[in-house]
Amino acid sequence: MKKLMAANWKMFKTVSEALETAEELVRLCGDVPADREVLVIPPFTAMTAVAGAFEHAGSFFLGGQNFYPELEGAFTGEISPVMLKDACCSYALAGHSERRHVLGEDDATVGRKTAFGLEQGLSMILCVGELIEERRAGKVEEVLRRQLQVGLADVPRDVLPERLSVAYEPVWAIGTGEVAGPEEIVQAHDFVRSVLVEIFGVNGNEMRIQYGGSVKPGNASDIISLDNVDGVLVGGASLKADSFSQIVLAG
Ligand code: PEP
Repeated sequence: MKKLMAANWKMFKTVSEALETAEELVRLCGDVPADREVLVIPPFTAMTAVAGAFEHAGSFFLGGQNFYPELEGAFTGEISPVMLKDACCSYALAGHSERRHVLGEDDATVGRKTAFGLEQGLSMILCVGELIEERRAGKVEEVLRRQLQVGLADVPRDVLPERLSVAYEPVWAIGTGEVAGPEEIVQAHDFVRSVLVEIFGVNGNEMRIQYGGSVKPGNASDIISLDNVDGVLVGGASLKADSFSQIVLAG
């Protein structure tokens, strides 16, 4: 299973900024190592420009940060998985902590998006992770189990494992500079793995589990070498081609 090195650009970058970063990223990454895939998740407005930069670059993929779980319709301000695919996306996120905690998405909505995106041919990254209060209250496993069970409730049990990834992103580590320690990461990833196997049987062993939360060039190789860490999801440090390329190539 190739490691999935993902860049979430959130609500950053104009079209020209995104194009410049994407072109530089392709140049700096050179031949992406055979055991890695690079995924860039730009704002919707920059999708076509980034797709152009990746056209002749192997191992570079595009993803959407969000979509509405319908094919089309009167949903002002929303975008459908069909439109993402039309804009060259092969992946999409569901349940990113900013959508859960800033924009108010609940587990059931995240679950509808995960299943619908897969049904429409996108590969999905389901983001899960606990708040600091939940960790302090000893509720990490309870929260992860609930987010996984509801988030994956309608996903077919025989889904191709390479089409479903889980990103463990402790909310207290996102954008804060505070990285989860190796033990915290391994414990959480082992637990996510066990729940994936409960839900999907042996298929669950083949699904990727990414870590996200203040990943930077300086900590990427330690994180990526941990057990059950099959990639990263990077916010802040993915905005500059120089730092994200170092993460992609981290040994
Ligand atoms: C993220 O947006 O998913 C993320 C992990 O952000 P950061 O790397 O900035 O913590």
